Amino acid sequence: MDISIVGSGYVGLVTGACFADVGHHVICVDNDQRKIAALQSGRIPIYEPGLQEVVHRNVSSHRLRFTRDIKDGVDNSQIIFIAVPTPPQSDGSVDLTYIEQVAREISEVLTDYRVIVDKSTVPVKTGEKVADTIRRYNKIRVSFDVVSNPEFLREGSAVADLMNPDRIVIGSNSDRALALMKKVYEPFMAPILVTDVKSAELIKHAANSFLALKISYINAISTICETSGADVEQVAEGIGTDKRIGRSFLSAGLGYGGSCFPKDVAAFLAISAQLGAPFPLLKEVERINTNQRTRFVHKIKDTLWILKNKRIAVWGLTFKPDTDDVRCSVAVEVVNDLLREGAMVYAYDPRGMDNVEELGLCKGLNLVKSPLEAVREAEALILATEWKEFHRVDLEETRRVMQTPIVFDGRNFFDPQTMKAVGFQYYGIGR
Ligand code: NAD
Repeated sequence: MDISIVGSGYVGLVTGACFADVGHHVICVDNDQRKIAALQSGRIPIYEPGLQEVVHRNVSSHRLRFTRDIKDGVDNSQIIFIAVPTPPQSDGSVDLTYIEQVAREISEVLTDYRVIVDKSTVPVKTGEKVADTIRRYNKIRVSFDVVSNPEFLREGSAVADLMNPDRIVIGSNSDRALALMKKVYEPFMAPILVTDVKSAELIKHAANSFLALKISYINAISTICETSGADVEQVAEGIGTDKRIGRSFLSAGLGYGGSCFPKDVAAFLAISAQLGAPFPLLKEVERINTNQRTRFVHKIKDTLWILKNKRIAVWGLTFKPDTDDVRCSVAVEVVNDLLREGAMVYAYDPRGMDNVEELGLCKGLNLVKSPLEAVREAEALILATEWKEFHRVDLEETRRVMQTPIVFDGRNFFDPQTMKAVGFQYYGIGR
């Protein structure tokens, strides 16, 4: 199949590369000149395990190329995927200007039947608006179909997730479009769930909100564990081994962050209210999530008392391991809480430091080159993102170079017994 993808970020680029890898011909379009120039010269602007190899392999086999020219993409493909940002507005509702812009740009160059697929996460009924927009701006009344195909990849394992999806959701009201979409996904040999457009749109927000709810649920339990003396890790195991519940997304910690969950929960709240079917349960999910970070910072303050001019080390800045993405990272928010208190914060992250610096997210933060450099002379260490590499750091050496060996583990990453045996004063979450 000939496919184009408009928006070559975490979703668009990985989707494009994986589509090419199963044999399709893919054009990735982006209006960011620097990004396209980087991709054309073989540089991958984001970090995602395995992505570089897939991109290089498919560029070499002429199945994948990059352009700024949307007309090139529309002219030379049967299906056009939209994977541009859908950021939140101040009231939580979704800013759909990027989607409208792309719909309009597509309509202006559309000369023949095409399937236009919304892969971005959008509120229910966006497909109708996209179709209206294309109809309004297309001068020659070309026929087309709009399909919803939400994306469920996780940053940090995006290539693996795309190549082996649990299911593919295709929301289509047209048999012609559906037949083409099935051809796109046939090589992935995954179950395909066919729905109407609105249901597919809703599935994505409902799925992300449910996962956020699971995280907030175990975090609420972690508070009860802390006050009662139970261990949230044991409780999570006990709940999660029930097949009806499942263990994933039941890890107590600093709460969810990143570019999806916070915005998608807020968006679902806003849409449900707009539709006259308010969903206050999600308000509580948000409250628990914020509370989790606030309680953690209080715990640090309770222990260290005054933070001003105290040297504090932070391991991890990305919103989760195996990514360079620091958008809405809870680790970054914790760092800023500490900086606001006047602490001297020294942080290390394997992949996220360039983005923190480039985006100017933590004014006054000292970025260092290794975990051990971060902890030197520190009065406390905060584990904020659970990168595996932190398991390889020598804990004895860590304790030795710290001024006071106190560890606040925001991800229950370390084993409390081991930490105590090494000589740390250790604080986890809910245990
Ligand atoms: P991103 O910011 O990484 O990438 C978006 C890209 O779109 C950028 O490269 C930007 O330059 C480009 N763009 C913006 N306007 C454009 C235009 N008019 N023409 C061409 N290119 C344009 O965003 P992302 O993380 O890939 O997310 C994209 C969508 O996918 C969002 O709706 C998001 O909610 C959803 N989503 C994201 C994830 C994730 O894990 N990141 C997972 C599932 C769904």
